Amino acid sequence: MVADLHLHTNFSDGTYTPEELVSHGKRHGLSAMSLTDHDTVEGCARMAVACQGENIEFIPGTELTAEFNGTELHLLGYIVDLDNEKFLTEVARFQGVRQERIREMVARLNKLNIPLSADAVFAIANCRSPGRPHVARALVQAGFCGSLDEAFERFLKMHRPAWVPKFKMSALDAIQLIQQAGGVAVMAHPGLNRSDEMIPGMVAGGLDGIECFHSKHSTSTAQHYLEMADTYHLLVTGGSDCHGMNKGKPLIGSIKLPYQHVERLKERAAARRARSATLSSTAGTRD
Ligand code: AMP
Ligand code: FE
Ligand code: FE
Ligand code: ZN
Repeated sequence: MVADLHLHTNFSDGTYTPEELVSHGKRHGLSAMSLTDHDTVEGCARMAVACQGENIEFIPGTELTAEFNGTELHLLGYIVDLDNEKFLTEVARFQGVRQERIREMVARLNKLNIPLSADAVFAIANCRSPGRPHVARALVQAGFCGSLDEAFERFLKMHRPAWVPKFKMSALDAIQLIQQAGGVAVMAHPGLNRSDEMIPGMVAGGLDGIECFHSKHSTSTAQHYLEMADTYHLLVTGGSDCHGMNKGKPLIGSIKLPYQHVERLKERAAARRARSATLSSTAGTRD
């Protein structure tokens, strides 16, 4: 049995709907799939239904944008309670910041005499967690750019004229936010962020795991992070980070994580919930 624990849909910057993603997962023989859209869990309800229809186990997830010592990194949050009030409030705040960032990018484009409207971008995004790929798509659809790449190269890449820095929460706060919602906090694609020097500090902050297997990790990179996981007693996860057609070819199927790692992940979440249930019942008897 194999899993893919890093996947995006059109509830953030992927192109597949949850139903399309699940049908590709079925075709690739996945037994378990997680949805890890950026700064949102909006697609999880539909993904859960789609997985049930195909007899695939669904692992609720998200990918939070964070920073540690000024460097951006992404934290995967697995098996968070999708009704957790604090989690939903914080995520809504980050989505508000993302929407505000879109308005700022559009204002900069307008100053360059590109009459794009923020509403046109929001209509294309059609989700609470819009990002630069949606601005790029709007620029292409309105005929201002010939391709998504051109939109990034001319306007949206860092330090290009319509680029706006992104708000990022602190990685240690993100770990806390995930764990207080009963979830498991995992550092995403460490091989892409040169994150090795951050790992000890993140472990001290309670990090649960690292994503050793990723479509952009070479075999030796994966091996390196398996050794790091061993050294720091971290859980091991893996996923393709498929964004559908957004980044050329769909990556689903490129990572097949052995199911034993999903078991460990679920055990960690169950232990966390059992502990917080004990703590709250102890608190209750004191009242
Ligand atoms: P954002 O979260 O709004 O900063 O957007 C980040 C997303 O934009 C990620 O999914 C990136 O893969 C995508 N992205 C960044 N640079 C490019 C590029 N040059 N071409 C296409 N997509 C890009
Ligand atoms: Fe993305
Ligand atoms: Fe990421
Ligand atoms: Zn991702």
